[in-house]
Amino acid sequence: MVAIDEKLEGVYATVLHRSPGELEFHQAVREVFESLGLVVAKNPSYLAEGLLERICEPERQIIFRVPWTDDKGQVHVNRGFRVEFNSALGPYKGGLRFHPSVNLGIIKFLGFEQIFKNSLTGMPIGGGKGGSDFDPKGRSEGEIMRFCQSFMTELYRHLGEHTDVPAGDIGVGGREIGYMFGQYKRITNRYEAGVLTGKGIAWGGSLVRTEATGYGATFFVKEMLETRGDAMEGKKVVVSGAGNVAIYTVEKVQQLGGKVIAMSDSGGCLVDQDGIDLALIKDIKNNRRERISQYAKERTGAHHYAEGSIWSVPCDIAMPSATQNELTGRDAAILIRNGVKAVGEGANMPSTPEAIRLFLEAKVLFGPGKAANAGGVATSALEMQQNASRDSWTFETTEKRLSEIMRNIHSSCANMADEYGAPGNYVLGANIAGFKRVADAMRALGVV
Ligand code: NDP
Repeated sequence: MVAIDEKLEGVYATVLHRSPGELEFHQAVREVFESLGLVVAKNPSYLAEGLLERICEPERQIIFRVPWTDDKGQVHVNRGFRVEFNSALGPYKGGLRFHPSVNLGIIKFLGFEQIFKNSLTGMPIGGGKGGSDFDPKGRSEGEIMRFCQSFMTELYRHLGEHTDVPAGDIGVGGREIGYMFGQYKRITNRYEAGVLTGKGIAWGGSLVRTEATGYGATFFVKEMLETRGDAMEGKKVVVSGAGNVAIYTVEKVQQLGGKVIAMSDSGGCLVDQDGIDLALIKDIKNNRRERISQYAKERTGAHHYAEGSIWSVPCDIAMPSATQNELTGRDAAILIRNGVKAVGEGANMPSTPEAIRLFLEAKVLFGPGKAANAGGVATSALEMQQNASRDSWTFETTEKRLSEIMRNIHSSCANMADEYGAPGNYVLGANIAGFKRVADAMRALGVV
């Protein structure tokens, strides 16, 4: 584990004391603090003004009951969360996650990461995150709709286009955003398109939002490769997950000439050395809503493994795009031994601290999630811009904006890493660049 500067130890101890047992939140705070020693040495006023303590404490945390009735008439109770972490740069912005593993610590880690990610985009958006421990797997359309309506019946009072603007995340895609937007509109009697992003194109959504996180992560990897005179063309790529981020990562990698040879879900991993057939994956996941094991039954030469790690499949580029802590130190050691050149995090905090340390030591190009997957939220901000001006842009215009934003994020991280004497260290660069913009805004707004 990397040491944190002694000047930050007191603040970190307060975080541990105030949020006991929230391990993922502690991990996310520690990872940022490991990068900030030199920053507070140069600017001691960040400490004197209690900025670090304030940045670690959410502005508001909302926890609520979500009762709903299943198809058999049985009543269920889930727990809903919205953590409004920091609004120094704009309205709270960040997705909603529906997954049985959700608890306050998970939402706080995601919300904390979101502050710095949103700052890195250069756009006027603060950080927040929310969700529920509801498990959508195996639920009917009617059950999903009733759950989303009940969730929004409480959440709506905390939202607003200038206050808090959620989007999707694990378990929340276009369908769920639709049901929540419908319920918001019904309760408030307002067609307030800017209150949620990830909407359908016919009712206020933005082209490219669905593709944005995966496309953006791939653009970020392309930028990293170019710093070494390399390109995506001909590379073997492994992408974990088979959801929104993973599918559109595969799409963009293939467009740039790379070959994706493995994907996964919580039931195991799929290897297709001939290159993943994206149309088949999209049909299985988006239309039929089946498991990826189905792919191996329909495509000759493909294999599904219920056990084992996807990271043992030799590749040039690894793009973890499923969930937190899915790539361990052991996995990183195997990837390095197999000659991995670049790792781009599509998911939030998918690599453990040990894995990150090994990648940095081995000089593998490593794009941390808060920079590499920021294309999703950046395109959400573009959706908000289109909603505010009652306009809609073409696919080409929006994708061009996304690729420019990703290029800018890449160069801010790279430049900041150079400035702080750690060239090529995107973890340090992202943390410092993300922190400084929020911290300076917080200073300007006074102690609030
Ligand atoms: P989806 O729900 O669309 O897909 C998630 C995928 O990850 C599924 O294939 C799921 O498999 C798999 N998965 C989830 N948990 C586990 C687990 N414990 N072990 C193995 N596989 C797992 O979510 P997204 O694609 O939207 O999100 C993926 C990641 O990207 C998350 O970390 C999210 O926070 C992050 N992210 C998403 C953004 C977005 O715009 N959607 C923006 C920025 C980051 P299964 O179906 O079997 O559960």
